[in-house]
This record gives sequence, structure tokens and C-alpha cells, in this order.
Amino acid sequence: MIQKHVSSFLKRTISDPLLSFVFPALCVSCETPLDDNETYICKSCHSQLTRIDPRYIKALKEEITTRFFDDLFIVYEFDSIFQTLIHLLKYQHFMGISELFAEALYTRVQNEYDEISAVPLNPIRMRERGYNQSALIATHFSRKTGIPFNPLLLERIKNTPSQTKLNREQRIKNMQDAFICHFDLSGQRILLIDDVITTGSTLNACAFVLKTAGAKQVDIAALATPVGVFQKNQENGSLGNSETRDIST
Ligand SMILES: [Zn+2]
Repeated sequence: MIQKHVSSFLKRTISDPLLSFVFPALCVSCETPLDDNETYICKSCHSQLTRIDPRYIKALKEEITTRFFDDLFIVYEFDSIFQTLIHLLKYQHFMGISELFAEALYTRVQNEYDEISAVPLNPIRMRERGYNQSALIATHFSRKTGIPFNPLLLERIKNTPSQTKLNREQRIKNMQDAFICHFDLSGQRILLIDDVITTGSTLNACAFVLKTAGAKQVDIAALATPVGVFQKNQENGSLGNSETRDIST
């Protein structure tokens, strides 16, 4: 499925006008030709990206018993269209998608900040990928808002293994001492950007470090979170349990 998107997308990246006529730009989701004012995804698919239910954000915050961040902003549910977009951004080098994501965040984040940062990748993954997708999103968000982006605000000093298969207790342990901040952030309001939030333990660990460095406010902004289990439990009258959520990009 993803390979199909890649071949379609490679066709649309051809800039020669004649070849563009032969291989029109295609939507990465439904593969219909894009209009001139559409990039990567058509308006129809874009409108089908599921905006997150604010009740879910509230529930996610409440699940974190010792919370170090303040506000939490999330734009989308981790649905199949979002999964296609984030996969292309993370693994297929379609970096322009980060600009679409920054615009989506811009519609959701409301507070004012002194500085923006992004959750750093561990060095091994950074070497493999060559870029940090969250930093790309933060760069575009910074250009749009004029708020300075400091990619070095947090340093990852421990290579933590993948979190997706760990439960909450294991994630907290995994994140302990993983980050450090070398700056004095006394009185600063910081917005920390990440692509996908699952349990929030990584972002909470980052917020702890930033608050320890003096920040008076640390807000989190993420593009999406998986909510399938939450929705099922909502139907049963209870809130979701993030320990059982899992994602695959
Ligand atoms: Zn489409």
C-alpha cells in the first residue's frame, strides 16, 4: 500500500511541465489528480482527517498522574489517512508534509510562547533517518508564528529502545534521565512539538527537564494520537486506557 503511494508520489514530484502533464500530481491518499492549489493530499481526503474529540485530550492528561506539562494540544486521530502522511514524512523523505502539519498545528495551538522546541530523536535513529520530523514541523511552525525555534533546547543523552511495545510503568522507567537541558529557562514559556503522542510519557519527561531548567510554562503540541481503544471504551461508558494503545507507522 505504502509502496503504491511512493510510486504515485514520485510521479507527482516531476517538475517538468510536459512530464507533469503526462504524470499529473496525485493525492497520496486516494491517488486522484491534485488541483494546482493542493499539495500532497486532495481537499476531500484532507477533510476526512479526523479531528480529535477534546474529551480524549482531557482523558489523556488525566491518565498522567504526575504531570509536568501544562496545556496539551492534539489535532487529529491517528487514522489511516494520517498514517499515510506520517509514514511518508518519517520514512520516505517527503519533508514538505511537515509544512502541512505545521499549518494544522497553527489552527489548534492558542497560547503565546517565548520559544519552541521539538522532541529530539535518539542519535541512532537520527543517523539512520538524517532528519527529525518533529523538528521539521517545529521549523515551519516557527516561520509561521515568528516564535524562535531552538532545536538544541533538549538533548537526548540515552538511547531509549522503541516505546510502542512498553506499558506505562516501563515507559516511565525507559524515559528516566533520557533528556537534559543546558539552558537557563527562567520564566520562559515553551511549546514542545512532537508528531505523535501515545501515553505522553516521553513528552512528560521532556517537560520535567524543561521545568527543572526554570521554564514557567511548558505546553505540548502533537499532530495525532491513536484513539481506537478510547472510542470502544466510550461506547461502554468508560475512558480509554493508554497502556493498551499501540500504533504502527
Ligand atoms: Zn485524496
